[in-house]
Amino acid sequence: MNDPPVCFFIPPYITDHIARNASRQGRDPAAARDGAKADLALRQQRKSAAYASLQALTAPTPGKADVVIYDDQNQWNLNVQLVRGPGDPPVKGANANAAYDALEATREFYREVLERDSIDNAGATIVGNVNFGVQYDNAFWDGAEMVFGNGDDVIFKDFTHDVDVPGHELTHGVTQYTAGLNYTDQSGALNEATSDIMGACVDQYVNKLDAGTFNWLIGEDVMADDLYGEAIRSLAHPGTAYDNPILGKDPQPDSMAGYVPNGDPHLNSGIINRVFYLIATDIGSFPAAKLWYATLQNLWPAAVFTDAAYVCSEMARVLARDEVIARQAPQTVRAAFHEVGIV
Ligand SMILES: [Zn+2]
Repeated sequence: MNDPPVCFFIPPYITDHIARNASRQGRDPAAARDGAKADLALRQQRKSAAYASLQALTAPTPGKADVVIYDDQNQWNLNVQLVRGPGDPPVKGANANAAYDALEATREFYREVLERDSIDNAGATIVGNVNFGVQYDNAFWDGAEMVFGNGDDVIFKDFTHDVDVPGHELTHGVTQYTAGLNYTDQSGALNEATSDIMGACVDQYVNKLDAGTFNWLIGEDVMADDLYGEAIRSLAHPGTAYDNPILGKDPQPDSMAGYVPNGDPHLNSGIINRVFYLIATDIGSFPAAKLWYATLQNLWPAAVFTDAAYVCSEMARVLARDEVIARQAPQTVRAAFHEVGIV
């Protein structure tokens, strides 16, 4: 098996835009540069020695889906100091507690709504890192654990600030252990969309919302004050999440008419995100999440959009027959994939 991909929350096209414009906006270009360097090293899997050694100070119990949080003390290394383990009371760092709570909530969403036991469905320990790097404007899943930067407080706040970030990143692990979707082109977009979809559902689970009351935005709570009101992605209306000089303009297509051949997974994921939004608004977010999870379990690494449309329609019939989701779900699914031009 190939190394699992490192999946970043903030896509390279935004990071590049930020780096290009840092000096013009009077910000310290060094922080942006260090972050970009770290991203590149991670993409190339050139991890440092400390990064490679994953031993915990207090071992969590295998198979218990325990959550553990490390404080990386602003080093560009992982697992620097274990600060909160399973069942530990809140600690001093607000972001360590936010990460702990969000990952607990994500684990609970998977268990209660999708009947899945942690990332691997075998109770894998859920590992989060906070205070990674210096003013690091990103978060990622590295194939084994989740990492949250502090943000520079000019563009992004601490990435634990929005529950859909941990929900998104943990879901990359779930995808890795189920469909194993490749992180390129359409399979990559399916992989990315699955993380946004479940991240959005975790957000609704935590905040007791449903399709009609949720804003369908990803990352709106990690935007720094000057960018208040912007978000990273919109599942309802891809391409409208942001438009400002710092981030540029949201380039996500919302249908195949705007499909970018071989585009970054974060671009074409908009098309699938919108499919999910259309389904969720008709049959409810959690039934739609069950349907998408069933679809994910029946996809394969090189699956493309038409494969997802076919499998999702089949799963809709099975789950509707079993009265897990609404009876009209098969028609809803077909209409949704049709609306974005996939079938
Ligand atoms: Zn992602």
